Amino acid sequence: MTNLSGSNFIAGKASQQGSSTFTSVNPRTRAAGSVRFFNATAHEIDEAVTHAAAAFEITRHYSAERLAAFLDRAAAEINGLGDELLETADWETGLGIPRLTGERGRTTGQLQAFARLLREGSYVEAIIDTALPDRQPAPRPDIRRMLLPIGPVAVFSASNFPFAFAVAGGDSASAWAAGCPVVVKAHPGHPATSELFALAINRATEGEGFPRGWFSLLHGNGVEVGQTLVQHPLLEAVGFTGSLRGGRALYDTAARRERPIPVYAEMGSINPIVILPGAAARRSEGLAEGLVNSVTLGSGQFCTNPGLILMLNEASTRPFIEAVKGKMAGRAPGVLLNEAIERGLTATVAGTQGRGTVETLTGGTVVEGDSFCYANTVLETTGAAFIADGGLQAEHFGPVTLLVVCESREELEAAIRGLHGNLTATIHAEVDEIDVAEALFSLLREKAGRLIWNGFPTGVEVVQAMQHGGPYPATTAPGTTSVGMTAIRRFLRPVAYQNMLEALLPDALKKANPLGIWRIVNGEMTKGEVTSL
Ligand code: NAP
Repeated sequence: MTNLSGSNFIAGKASQQGSSTFTSVNPRTRAAGSVRFFNATAHEIDEAVTHAAAAFEITRHYSAERLAAFLDRAAAEINGLGDELLETADWETGLGIPRLTGERGRTTGQLQAFARLLREGSYVEAIIDTALPDRQPAPRPDIRRMLLPIGPVAVFSASNFPFAFAVAGGDSASAWAAGCPVVVKAHPGHPATSELFALAINRATEGEGFPRGWFSLLHGNGVEVGQTLVQHPLLEAVGFTGSLRGGRALYDTAARRERPIPVYAEMGSINPIVILPGAAARRSEGLAEGLVNSVTLGSGQFCTNPGLILMLNEASTRPFIEAVKGKMAGRAPGVLLNEAIERGLTATVAGTQGRGTVETLTGGTVVEGDSFCYANTVLETTGAAFIADGGLQAEHFGPVTLLVVCESREELEAAIRGLHGNLTATIHAEVDEIDVAEALFSLLREKAGRLIWNGFPTGVEVVQAMQHGGPYPATTAPGTTSVGMTAIRRFLRPVAYQNMLEALLPDALKKANPLGIWRIVNGEMTKGEVTSL
């Protein structure tokens, strides 16, 4: 087993400058871990970002192939951590070895997928409009545009994905792929897991001959580390996954800087599912089973957890609700990640119950015992109450869902029109309900980043076409995604070159297309060389 030091890692070097420490806690037993982790000091934060800025002076010139080699090496080093990584993360999160094994594959897979994206090359979005010297009344200059790396990026690990949205998760992978050094604020829920990742990434950084400031890891179990980090003048962008409160606070801090920077925060989402009467009538059992599986997956601690079910009050509705309630009550609740999540869930469910319009069908309480645990919970309210009270859209981060029963199609449409932004929106319907579904999807499209037909939102594929984002409060940047290959765009900045000498152009924009990438030349997608209009 690796002897963990509890250190921060600043540009490859272990660092313990502060005196304040914390330990991990096993969510199954509440036992404290044996390693003390050092909260990063203001000086360590400054060192990390300063080294990242120095590294960027070098890595901003790296070829796509060189960056791809690092990503492949990082994936190999993570796999090289072996079972120790899985066992450490299981001890710190209670997520279980099978789930963590899958998440490790997803994490290394996304690093490798970004490497393939870089080698294919068109992610730089090269666009060339050649000059029109004879245009009247004035000639048009030659304009060539491409995406270039933005600079040092701060990444905030999420608690609920200790691999895939953490030290070397999607935010870091996409920033590195863009050519940007990364300073990670580790999540205090899994610091030992974070240190193992840091050791692997340090080996990859050194092995590929990258400057040491390419990666740093900072620990912190309070808001100070993150707040100080985001204010650092040499930082250029932030990637965050977590609570609405945390994401919004960091977004506001970044906006108050003398030189504001973008914060790509993925935050609260309740992922509405509309179930039309035909689907509830004809597939009641299977639909209830699928829904309960999705709500309780990972103890409900997914950003895509279906926390809101919208239905019409028809003959099939009550039996379906009874089926959902029975299955939720009959299933043993899982372990929650940490005490803060148990506390937060208790408070948010109590807040919803306290609004006076909500009935608790099952659950609604903490499950007493050694582990952090909350009962599988089904809440119900009316369409009218939901429309009148935006507070009923609060995220309950855990195995909880709120059923909203509407009295008419008009009421259902009004409920959808009043929805806040979400990551996903789903409709379950039968083929003879397609006209209604089409009209409702048209409304839902304004509310979510991913629309799902007869499926469930949990389970987010890492593919080119994935969109994992949505209007506020799902994210602070609805034009972007934090999963899938286009996540790289968050850490790239467009630059146009006007009438530039061929010798001064980047390879991606040169006449002969030496990289052999797809480009849009005078409005046509081509891999060919530039010919004038
Ligand atoms: P969190 O509380 O938002 O924390 C995420 C990270 O941000 C941590 O490193 C945290 O640092 C930092 N942070 C939080 N507030 C901050 C602030 N005001 N200023 C600077 N840094 C700040 O999220 P979490 O611990 O992962 O989970 C807590 C809640 O977040 C859950 O109960 C759930 O509601 C929500 N959540 C949502 C998603 C999603 O994808 N929608 C995912 C995970 C969690 P410290 O912990 O050191 O303070």
